Amino acid sequence: MSDITNAFQMAQQQFDEVAEQLDLDPDVREILRWPTREFRFQVPVRMDSGAIRTFQGFRVQHSDARGPSKGGIRFHASETIDTVRALAMWMTWKCAVVDIPLGGGKGGVVVDPATLSPTEKERLCRGWVGQIYRNIGPRQDVPAPDVGTTPQMMGWMMDEYSKLVGEYTPGVITGKPLGGGGSLGRTEATGFGVIFTIREAMKHLKMDPAKTTAAFQGFGNVSQYAAIGYHKFLGGKVICVSYWDREDRTSYTVTKEDGIDPVFLQSITDQYGSISKDKAKAYGYKIEDGDAWIEKDVDVLVPAALEGQINGETVKKVSDQVKIVAEGANGPTTPEADAVFEKNGVFVIPDFLCNAGGVTVSYFESVQNDMNYYWSKEEVLDKLDFKMTSAFQSVLDLSAGEKVYMRDAEYMVAIGRVVKAMELRGWI
Ligand code: NAD
Repeated sequence: MSDITNAFQMAQQQFDEVAEQLDLDPDVREILRWPTREFRFQVPVRMDSGAIRTFQGFRVQHSDARGPSKGGIRFHASETIDTVRALAMWMTWKCAVVDIPLGGGKGGVVVDPATLSPTEKERLCRGWVGQIYRNIGPRQDVPAPDVGTTPQMMGWMMDEYSKLVGEYTPGVITGKPLGGGGSLGRTEATGFGVIFTIREAMKHLKMDPAKTTAAFQGFGNVSQYAAIGYHKFLGGKVICVSYWDREDRTSYTVTKEDGIDPVFLQSITDQYGSISKDKAKAYGYKIEDGDAWIEKDVDVLVPAALEGQINGETVKKVSDQVKIVAEGANGPTTPEADAVFEKNGVFVIPDFLCNAGGVTVSYFESVQNDMNYYWSKEEVLDKLDFKMTSAFQSVLDLSAGEKVYMRDAEYMVAIGRVVKAMELRGWI
């Protein structure tokens, strides 16, 4: 199998393989291989200097068969339409696998948000909504944060939409700040969700979580709470996390062999997930090169940074001790690396199952917005645990029953549900 680093080609290839296994009708395949709608637009922004800078914006709606499209907005310097398409398609499957009544979408802006002042960022967020507000909404397409975007930015976007449509509409966007229509538990949701699936995988593999060690890539929203949850819920040890150092323009791994303190590391990490390496060093952490995380002799690897990180080359560095790969990020493993894991019997908790906690609590957020009644954090996290555990079980049951790889099983469960909705609506 050739290695593919274009995320959309990878998403299509994964879909094609499962469509074949499911013997899906070719006409139905053609519908689902491509997004239903895509928007590309320019967002001119008045910069603090007075000059106008024009940013490229995207919104892709892959499917709304099961409900309004749903998916984050990524602000990243190397954002492309193909990354957004891939992420939109994965959102369709992700919402279906956790069985929430939403479809798949994704958005983006080609920008390094760290280069913008807060006021420029606000104008860019409002400008993005100004270009797309006719095509998003609580019953059409509900964006959320992703890499490079924050709850505050969602608050600005919700405000701009509400002004443009003339009524307070908190349900247009999720991941909003608390007190501004946000849900308790949203910040922790994706990371804790990753841990709930690891806990279930360990039960299945008869591993004692308290005796396990893990290595993480990334130390942003997902990874921080997954690392905290690894200690809190499993009693296991995370021995390193890696991150992208924006000053040095390279990645580093921050290691403590007897276990990192994720709460401490969080306190010396900026809002973009960059750790202060000098402070970490002062507290006895070892700073290694960016690839060191993948070579560690640990039981669990958690890639939670960007797509395509475990590929045909890097997979060769993975230790034989690794039993579980929990994909906190979207698409972190290329098909070539995936084939190696399958052959070696590594238990992969595939991305859209593993990291579905965020969208699940996003869904809870819009339910609470609709009711105008808000749940306690405990209630949100209990409901999250229930959803993640049920989703994990349905994928594991299918994987065991049909003797298929976990990633194929997650696709089968998800695609089956989307196709069913299309049938029920009379589309096919
Ligand atoms: P984030 O921006 O908060 O953090 C990203 C982290 O990755 C940062 O610590 C950054 O320094 C690090 N990083 C970037 N490039 C790196 C590199 N080359 N090597 C090592 N580290 C690197 O993003 P996030 O919200 O934590 O999202 C991470 C991944 O999880 C993405 O794939 C995203 O699509 C996915 N995801 C996020 C959510 C969510 O709710 N936030 C939900 C589902 C999936």
